[in-house]
Amino acid sequence: MALLTARKTQPRYDVIVVGSGAAGGQTAYTLAMEGVKVLMLEAGRNYDPVTETPMFETNHQAPLRGTGTPDKPFGFHDATIDGGWQVPGEPYTNASADPKREFKWWRSRMLGGRTNHWGRIALRNGPYDFKPYSRDGLGFDWPISYEDVAPYYDKVEMLIGVYGTNEGRENTPNSPAGILQPPPLMRAGERLAQHRGKKIGIPVIPIHRAVLSQRLDGPALAAKLHPKNPAAQRVLSQAMSERAACFWATNCGRGCAIRANYQSTTVHLPPALASGNLDILTDAMGYRVLMDDQGKATGVSYIDRKTREEKQVFGRIVVLAASSAESVRMLLNSKSARHPAGVANSSGLVGKYIMDTVGAYLGGQVPALENLPPHNEDGAGGGHAYVPWWLYQEQHAGKLGFARGYHLEFETGRRMPDVDVTRGLAGLNGGNYGAAFKADARRYFGSFVGFAGRGEMIPNEDSFCEIDPAVKDKWGIPVLRFNWKWSEHETRQAKHMQEAGAALITAMGGKLFKPPVADGAEAIANGGFIIHEVGGTIMGADPKKSVTNQWCQTWDVKNLFVTDGGPFASNADKNPTLTIMALAWRASDYMLEEMRKGNL
Ligand SMILES: Cc1cc2nc3c(=O)[nH]c(=O)nc-3n(C[C@H](O)[C@H](O)[C@H](O)COP(=O)(O)OP(=O)(O)OC[C@H]3O[C@@H](n4cnc5c(N)ncnc54)[C@H](O)[C@@H]3O)c2cc1C
Ligand code: SF4
Repeated sequence: MALLTARKTQPRYDVIVVGSGAAGGQTAYTLAMEGVKVLMLEAGRNYDPVTETPMFETNHQAPLRGTGTPDKPFGFHDATIDGGWQVPGEPYTNASADPKREFKWWRSRMLGGRTNHWGRIALRNGPYDFKPYSRDGLGFDWPISYEDVAPYYDKVEMLIGVYGTNEGRENTPNSPAGILQPPPLMRAGERLAQHRGKKIGIPVIPIHRAVLSQRLDGPALAAKLHPKNPAAQRVLSQAMSERAACFWATNCGRGCAIRANYQSTTVHLPPALASGNLDILTDAMGYRVLMDDQGKATGVSYIDRKTREEKQVFGRIVVLAASSAESVRMLLNSKSARHPAGVANSSGLVGKYIMDTVGAYLGGQVPALENLPPHNEDGAGGGHAYVPWWLYQEQHAGKLGFARGYHLEFETGRRMPDVDVTRGLAGLNGGNYGAAFKADARRYFGSFVGFAGRGEMIPNEDSFCEIDPAVKDKWGIPVLRFNWKWSEHETRQAKHMQEAGAALITAMGGKLFKPPVADGAEAIANGGFIIHEVGGTIMGADPKKSVTNQWCQTWDVKNLFVTDGGPFASNADKNPTLTIMALAWRASDYMLEEMRKGNL
């Protein structure tokens, strides 16, 4: 059992946080920097991106040229260790045998969780996104509005560093002046799409990503983020001084040894540990929330993955931040005679209304981008531009046949060649090899484009998770069983995404690899496939209709919080992680205030 700090675990902490990813990292950071004694439990092993990231290895140095395998689905060099669609010995099940209703669950068992290799796309939800029911009568409104969360978006953006621009577009909020860092230049394919997109009314703008394009001004930012707290300012300034700016040369999915992009392991955990207020136990698989007879949480039991023993830790407050579905699993597995349906489940809604992002893809090849003179447009390891949802008015007027919006993410560029770059080549070069193959590779390299649609799903009664009555994992913990169904809103949206991608590629003078499908149910990716799962402990204003209140605090157990994506009452097209962090910071501020008042 690794204890990352010098001390042994204390008999009792102020707060126990389960999970060390975006949610756990943000929660522990906010609390520890304000002097709260925190113990973090992390199921995976310790992981240090500074020493473990294979930043400068090329694919030919990797087995199978780095291509994906069941153990490493995103390729040999991907940052995920001990994780993927399947984790050995830690299964999950699906209630339906219909492949279209299968939910796929990605997990990363490592310190920092999925933040070590996430795409770093960091978009704010807009005002409409917190009140979707009020706009179209579907799903649920959140009990909070954009104005409640905006100050926390500001703080998170300042802390982690986000590049992008303020474009003043509908429901796509600007950040206050001076917060965003300058975005990298658009790549040739993105510029062409922007130019031609204008002619067909599809906007292309710089994307927001959690990557430093400049070094951070540590002292100034620390003073803004921790006013009146010189100790926190000192620690944060030091941590920020250890982050370099991106040098535009590697693949963010491998992690970043120079700490230029956001990972919990390089941004949240170092200052939180340096504060002296955070202890971290790795290889500690949270199992149950411990409860007393008065209905308060007292701590957490976990399986020590090294010894397989079940152990207990205690705190005044328990925060579940193990990723939305895993936190549901812990709540449901905490059932007892006193809590027969699991803890915090008097509404019966724990596990209900799980959501992912709607995903559909369309790719093609653009002759105008062939034979470009060799140039370096590696940039930050991901898209530099995107298409924000642009049809709010048409949709609101009922002209589209589906209720919620999407954005398009790009695949373009002449980045470091990897297996993906050759994807279209095989179909274009007639199977030649040798000198002809090399000439074709030079001709076509950088001329492939792809658009990945990312859209809003409306929560529904048929998408939920529950405890499988028969299956346990290798630690003896009952596993989750998923139930999943897309509605026609999502399948029609997926069709529209493909059509928009096709319109853009055609406007660029390109050829489609495949035409858009007529049936959106064919275009749509499986639930969970976009790895934006949220919901299951949704927040609301009514304890009978929600699991948590606006502070991510469970209605039933006042010292039990869920700060991952579980409390999302809807899942806007904007990728969820920036909002997870903003809500985790807001919930932590509430905990601080309630602790000060003696209420917690
Ligand atoms: C390839 C990929 C690309 C992505 N791209 C984007 C993107 O561009 N933008 C975006 O917004 N989002 C993106 N995401 C999603 C993003 O990673 C998640 O939304 C985010 O990490 C969720 O944070 P979390 O803290 O809830 O979960 P995680 O980051 O998964 O962290 C959960 C942690 O809890 C630990 N844990 C789990 N169960 C237990 C337990 N029982 N006991 C103790 N510890 C436990 C896990 O090991 C893990 O370390 C992407 C994800 C992937 C995989
Ligand atoms: S592209 Fe930049 S931020 Fe991403 S891993 Fe490389 S250096 Fe780090």
